[in-house]
Amino acid sequence: RTRVEDLASYIRDVPDYPRDGIVFKDITGLLVDPDALTEAVDRLAALVPDDVELISGMEARGFIVGAALAFRLGLGFVPVRKAGKLPPPVRSATYGLEYGEATIEIREGTVPAGARVMLVDDVLATGGTAAAGAQLLEELGAEVVGLAFLLELDGLGGRERLAGRSVSTVLLAG
Ligand code: 5GP
Repeated sequence: RTRVEDLASYIRDVPDYPRDGIVFKDITGLLVDPDALTEAVDRLAALVPDDVELISGMEARGFIVGAALAFRLGLGFVPVRKAGKLPPPVRSATYGLEYGEATIEIREGTVPAGARVMLVDDVLATGGTAAAGAQLLEELGAEVVGLAFLLELDGLGGRERLAGRSVSTVLLAG
């Protein structure tokens, strides 16, 4: 393997996607490159405290990085899904988006009471998605010991939204 130093160079800026004025960070170039993917998962793994018992990830890109991370650490994985994808029984949470709202779900019974969970996603923007995921995990009895992201978008209030939580990120983009 070639050690990848400049992981950020594998992430592409897509202007005006998905809407005018938004610059979307496309991580598919990082995922497809074996050295970059390995480096990204290694760096995420370094952010996970030793006492973490379970990895959880937000649909859909949080499944990719989260499942890879869980495998890397020898831990199990709990998917936080968009509404209507999981068979019952599920616990739901609805949260506000810039336009409208979204509902996420976790299957009841997948998180052991008191389990120390690390919640993972690809990108931290406003923090709304991660805040809702962490809260839902806690409603199910988990102890969310931290949140880890591949990329943090600076200036969108994600850190503030997640104030009081342990937030760590591999890359920061202005
Ligand atoms: P937030 O709730 O923090 O505003 O948005 C984060 C969620 O939206 C994450 O699930 C993330 O996958 C997605 N997201 C928001 N902006 C971007 C972006 O620029 N690139 C990618 N890959 N995902 C984004």
